[in-house]
Amino acid sequence: GGLDIVRVGPGPTLLRRQAAATAPALLRRLATAILGLVDREVAVARLSGDEFALALVRPAADTPAIDTLGEILLRTVTQSYEFEGKYIHVGAYVGIARADGRPVAVADLLRRADIALEQARSSRSARPLWFDAGMESALIAQSEPQIDLASGRLIGFEALARWNHRLSGLIMPDQFILVAEEIGLIGRLSEQVMRAAFRAAVDWHPSIRLSVNVSPKMLSDAWLAQKIVRLLNETGLPANRLVVEITESSLFVDIDQARTIVDSLKNQGIRIALDDFGTGFSSLSYLRTLPFDVIKIDRSFIATIHRDRESAAIVRAVTTLATALNVPVTVEGIEDAATLDAVVAMGCAVGQGWYFGKPMTADQAGAMVRASAAGDAVQAAAPIPITSAI
Ligand code: C2E
Ligand code: CA
Ligand code: CA
Repeated sequence: GGLDIVRVGPGPTLLRRQAAATAPALLRRLATAILGLVDREVAVARLSGDEFALALVRPAADTPAIDTLGEILLRTVTQSYEFEGKYIHVGAYVGIARADGRPVAVADLLRRADIALEQARSSRSARPLWFDAGMESALIAQSEPQIDLASGRLIGFEALARWNHRLSGLIMPDQFILVAEEIGLIGRLSEQVMRAAFRAAVDWHPSIRLSVNVSPKMLSDAWLAQKIVRLLNETGLPANRLVVEITESSLFVDIDQARTIVDSLKNQGIRIALDDFGTGFSSLSYLRTLPFDVIKIDRSFIATIHRDRESAAIVRAVTTLATALNVPVTVEGIEDAATLDAVVAMGCAVGQGWYFGKPMTADQAGAMVRASAAGDAVQAAAPIPITSAI
């Protein structure tokens, strides 16, 4: 049993279209129609503008009954109302949320019903819509495969943050990471991404690594290493399967602090990758002073490797140098077979990019891991359906 909230609201422009004089009368008509449907046990309220909500406390969860009530509400509100000889047609949408045993604040329940109503409205649903968790905006982690270039085998995934917005769809990191850094939210945001990514990676084959990004601001958090270790403990992901990617530019902020954090991560058995290599300054000296396990050559060099002799020379030189230092090179942004051939010829060890698969959901990544364990080398992206939405 529990509490059900049913919200009903007309199409988005109803009240705006009405003359100020008709609006109150119309609202009264709607209210009367709704009140006529229910008994005194049901609380009915006008919450905002032209929206009404019904609250039903019920001894037992009775989904069909609430669904039916939602349908009747829809039909009752959706009709033409006559005013002084003129007809005003009102369309309606219904969103429903239920407190199903787990404790939830009434305000949250109202908000969930509102989200469901908004979803019904934006999808022009002719039926009542029940809230489900997927309707909420959520920070999620997509995964991009990382391939051992010599064998073609899948060796890991990089977690990439996406903001799954209930109305706008997937929002990319370049649209929220900087803002999150500015307003001081990047730490909590990255923690959510890591938790989601760690949880998914726990079920993968133990040889499959997971890379996560940390941004410059996060390196100024003296507790960063402890927070990451706590997330590992919480999710059960072994430290030796994790790679933390640190961008070259974030080392400038405070190199001593960065070194402390890198040291404590490494002490736990976590690997460190130097991300976006080549885009910052004095890169080469960092290679000596910090114990990186991987160097990632920035995508900008890979994208121009064919057109630009300098890019090719830089990729070749970095690969030679890193190999001499015994640090494997990962190249990102491999989009076609020709680029793959070029970086393989230069001796790059690991590659990622859309040629192997666009960033995918945790489920798709899991399927790719299982296919790979079954012996299939990862070819061009074809076998994995590429989606842009969760
Ligand atoms: P990055 O770490 O250099 O990640 C690689 C970016 O290149 C990703 O963009 C990826 O989708 C894209 N990419 C990979 N392969 C290809 C390719 O073949 N072609 C093209 N055109 N693009 C490719 P995305 O996901 O938009 O991420 C952008 C940046 O946002 C990342 O750059 C990283 O710096 C940051 N970021 C992403 N997720 C997180 C996160 O969870 N935390 C933090 N702090 N930063 C993140
Ligand atoms: Ca990265
Ligand atoms: Ca990059």
